[in-house]
Amino acid sequence: AHPDAHDTTIQGTDTDAAVSRLSAVHCGYLTDPYAQFFVSADGGPPTRRLPIINRGTYTRTTALDRLVDAFLDGRGQRQIVSLGAGTDTRVFRRFARGETEGLVYHEIDFEVISQKKMRIVRGNPMLSRIMGEITVSEDATYWSSDLGTRGEYHCHGLDLRKLVDAGESQALIPGLRTDIPTLVVSECCLCYLATEQAAAVLAYFHNRIQSLGTVIYEPVLSHDAFGKVMTSNLAARGISMPTLDSYPTPTDQEKRLSEAGFHGSVKAMTVGDIWRRWVSEDEKTRLDSLEGLDEVEEWELLAGHYVVAWGSKGLDVQGWNELPN
Ligand code: SAM
Repeated sequence: AHPDAHDTTIQGTDTDAAVSRLSAVHCGYLTDPYAQFFVSADGGPPTRRLPIINRGTYTRTTALDRLVDAFLDGRGQRQIVSLGAGTDTRVFRRFARGETEGLVYHEIDFEVISQKKMRIVRGNPMLSRIMGEITVSEDATYWSSDLGTRGEYHCHGLDLRKLVDAGESQALIPGLRTDIPTLVVSECCLCYLATEQAAAVLAYFHNRIQSLGTVIYEPVLSHDAFGKVMTSNLAARGISMPTLDSYPTPTDQEKRLSEAGFHGSVKAMTVGDIWRRWVSEDEKTRLDSLEGLDEVEEWELLAGHYVVAWGSKGLDVQGWNELPN
């Protein structure tokens, strides 16, 4: 396929993520008043995903919230860089909740996606109220908003693969601070890049920022029967996911982070393990009552093929050390 056609397909995965998020909200798994604004309504009720998909969306969203919140819990200024943020709503939830003093929040995605996000924010009173006044950069490649004491937000239209060749002389991502503890989040984004490119993106931040953490969520285990089905389903949609082969197990994900220079609290867990160990019994009872989940085996298979990995360098995230594992 033409490379641009592939980019368009990859950008379409954001619509998938937004629809799944709204399904999980609509079915009562997640509370997120902003998810609805990022799915175009066709007049009917929102698309309802399978119960195992809703449970997966719930588990990964709450797991990443927990890791991000623990990172933000430290004192002083903090920075978040969300790679392939798409129409993710975490930024709105976070700024709406408050306690964001000194928070610098960056989101990066292809220009079409970052522009779409700006249009939606501008056209929506609730989102506009949270994000305040928006400024568009002169070259129109990014937009930002100064939230005063509540922090600042930057949304970049940038192909991450451009960070790969970033030598010392290359201009920094606008607004990126290199002097404050920073968390780089990839919620199903780096997996679409070639393995070396994904490593180079992490290195871009690693080489510039002293106190750095990272959280990566993506599929793994391409080598068993279920993994093969997953891979061929992706291929049928024209999507390749190089990290499936490069980091086929949670242990490989931990090794990946260590090799990238993250040596503090390095850990990778499957979504299945996170569901078992991080979600309280009360919460499980509540979720089970929302809709029947008969496909227990399917859930185990699916949840065993997605991993959340995290680690840090030059920074100790206290809350990460206290998570059940
Ligand atoms: N993180 C969001 C979430 O979890 O809801 C969206 C995930 S979506 C599956 C993957 C996102 O990564 C898409 O929005 C896509 O445009 C973005 N992406 C993939 N490759 C990228 C690249 N080379 N540069 C910038 N963004 C990229």
